[in-house]
Amino acid sequence: MLLPEDSFRLVCREAAGAFPAEACGLLIGQGARIDRVLPMVNQAADPDRFEIAPSDLFAAHRHARAEGLAVTGHYHSHPNGLAGPSQRDAEAIADLSAWWLIVAVAPDTGQVTGVSAWHPSVPPAAAGYGGGDHRVDYQRNRGFQPVSLLIVRGLKPAGIKKEKGL
Ligand SMILES: [Zn+2]
Repeated sequence: MLLPEDSFRLVCREAAGAFPAEACGLLIGQGARIDRVLPMVNQAADPDRFEIAPSDLFAAHRHARAEGLAVTGHYHSHPNGLAGPSQRDAEAIADLSAWWLIVAVAPDTGQVTGVSAWHPSVPPAAAGYGGGDHRVDYQRNRGFQPVSLLIVRGLKPAGIKKEKGL
């Protein structure tokens, strides 16, 4: 995943600012190339989960399309400090093409300790593997595969319009 440096900083700031609650937002771009992130209001009543209002989501899709981009995934924080996808994340996989960004926040200090990128993985049976490494990785990562995250400076907007700082 390609992530502009300012988006990376914004995600970290949002995660630390929302602590001890979860921060969440959307990734806007083209495929694995993220052009910007869009912080969203976390609607979840439970402190350790995230939920985006359908109307907010709809508006974000519309804005992204108007720029020639798309909502390609989302980010959220883990105020319990865990870096990888949680069981809840595994249960929340709805779109197999979505990119996930997870920000770990240390429960004792409220500081960001790590940011990692993930993508839903293909179940071992569907992939045609009976077992082995793929099955072990699949289970360990709760149905996600780790994605390499590249923080880039000065990424030019890919959309048809200039960034408007939505
Ligand atoms: Zn999570």
